[in-house]
Amino acid sequence: MAILVQLRIKPEFICDDFHIKEAIKDQLKWKNDDFSFIWKKRSIDARKPQIFYNCTLEVFQKGECTSDKPKFEFKNVKNSKALIIIGAGPAGLYAGLRCLELGIKPIIYERGKDVRSRRRDLAVLNKTGIVNPDSNYCFGEGGAGTYSDGKLYTRSKKRGDVDKVLQLFVHFGAEESIAVDAHPHIGTNKLPQIIVAMREQIINNGGEVHFNSKVSDFLIEDGGIKKIQINQVNWIDCEDVIIATGHSARDMFNMLHDNGVRLESKSFALGVRVEHTQALIDKIQYHGRLNDDYLPPASYALVEQVEDRGVYSFCMCPGGIIAPCATNENEVVTNGWSPSKRNNIYSNSGIVVAIHPDDFSNSKQDPFVCLNFQQSIEQKAYQLAGGQQKVPAQRLLDFVNGVQSKDFPRSSYVPGITSVNFNELLPPFVLKRLKKAFVLFDKKMKGFLTNDAVIHGPESRTSSPILIPRNPETLEHPEVSGIFPCAEGAGYAGGIVSAAIDGMKCVDAIACKWEMLTQK
Ligand SMILES: Cc1cc2nc3c(=O)[nH]c(=O)nc-3n(C[C@H](O)[C@H](O)[C@H](O)COP(=O)(O)OP(=O)(O)OC[C@H]3O[C@@H](n4cnc5c(N)ncnc54)[C@H](O)[C@@H]3O)c2cc1C
Repeated sequence: MAILVQLRIKPEFICDDFHIKEAIKDQLKWKNDDFSFIWKKRSIDARKPQIFYNCTLEVFQKGECTSDKPKFEFKNVKNSKALIIIGAGPAGLYAGLRCLELGIKPIIYERGKDVRSRRRDLAVLNKTGIVNPDSNYCFGEGGAGTYSDGKLYTRSKKRGDVDKVLQLFVHFGAEESIAVDAHPHIGTNKLPQIIVAMREQIINNGGEVHFNSKVSDFLIEDGGIKKIQINQVNWIDCEDVIIATGHSARDMFNMLHDNGVRLESKSFALGVRVEHTQALIDKIQYHGRLNDDYLPPASYALVEQVEDRGVYSFCMCPGGIIAPCATNENEVVTNGWSPSKRNNIYSNSGIVVAIHPDDFSNSKQDPFVCLNFQQSIEQKAYQLAGGQQKVPAQRLLDFVNGVQSKDFPRSSYVPGITSVNFNELLPPFVLKRLKKAFVLFDKKMKGFLTNDAVIHGPESRTSSPILIPRNPETLEHPEVSGIFPCAEGAGYAGGIVSAAIDGMKCVDAIACKWEMLTQK
């Protein structure tokens, strides 16, 4: 039987199997080497100057089985009943894979391009500032998660579901360490081929994935969805549809609203993206330990309550680059990505304030109240920065002091930055909380509040500002049968892992409706 062992290992020994075996022997008071081990969990503890990895390992005596790799069985679904999935982000792709497991034929419609063609549009976007509204950092194969840092942490409670998402990533080419590390990430350079492998599995098993296929309208009759329209031309019959279009698909929200599908306004968060050098973040987090080959680029997670409201770091990217994440020409939006090695000289993170529907006077009647606010800030930022995807920027201390910056250190943001006083961009209730939070963050991370750091903004696509209601049991829209609101865009996920989990959950709910599954 496997024995669970917990060890604290110094970073310089974390890849040294001999050292780890000796530590296991010490702990179990064993003398011989006739055993093997596998990693279960690994996390860095950098609270004190002597940094350790906290490790959980499973130890097997000679002859015991050590393989616990899960097996996935994907059925041939060429002639099976079809399910329409809108969107090929993490939710749509994992929904597609779950269909293969259950013997359902997934038909995925994606407005954007395949990952390879999409990359060319990103190059144009960075170089010229021209946004393709269907192919950008948010839209296209793999969704918003493809050209990201690929962080795979989640607050999702059900460990089994999380493990399955991670194991599927490993099955399609991610490193096995993502299932072990407490804060796993994949990286922009490695995600695309994993996404392609998922798509190929879906197609090889008889499913369909249609790119450049934007769902442009619905036909809803007698309280149920009857047809969807593709690219304003083709109408396709449907019975049940998973809507996994992400929170940037504003036209989807409009389309649903125009067709009488009830939506609700929802809290989200908005603020700025702050960029430091990675060297500074390493120095703060690793107690002055710099250029340490044994430690990964340091990250941070900060949260403060300021005047009864959460202000927190969001999507922190060690060794990362700030990306232009707008989905339309007349707006600017920031977010961040990192390669697998996180080896850029910069570190960036969103720092955002919670925004609630009640912040606006017409909150009760208008489901679009938070979305309109989000969009107005993005459009104002575009105007203030002067177009071509340049973003407003301000040195961090200047921001806190309300002073416009005269010059800047180099920024990772390729389309360029414009000096703007954020007092002009953000409303006072956001501004004052951000300023206070930065001062408080500096108490936790000495040196964080420095004029060598630069804020870029806005950071506005954090989670959906709209909720598409669904029945908590059946996951179907309460008033329109056949509509299954899914994942981040509908308000039921935040991040790659929880979106993937929700995609699978929606397929299970439909399989129950079709009496192919008795229990979710
Ligand atoms: C730059 C960046 C970095 C990020 N980094 C991380 C990270 O490190 N870790 C993390 O967990 N999360 C990260 N995120 C967030 C993460 O990507 C999302 O939480 C996740 O992708 C949501 O998954 P989803 O499937 O719900 O929606 P999305 O990924 O948004 O996918 C929706 C898909 O639907 C398509 N679509 C939209 N409208 C239509 C239509 N009308 N017809 C057909 N198709 C349509 C879109 O093109 C898109 O491909 C990042 C996001 C960005 C932009």
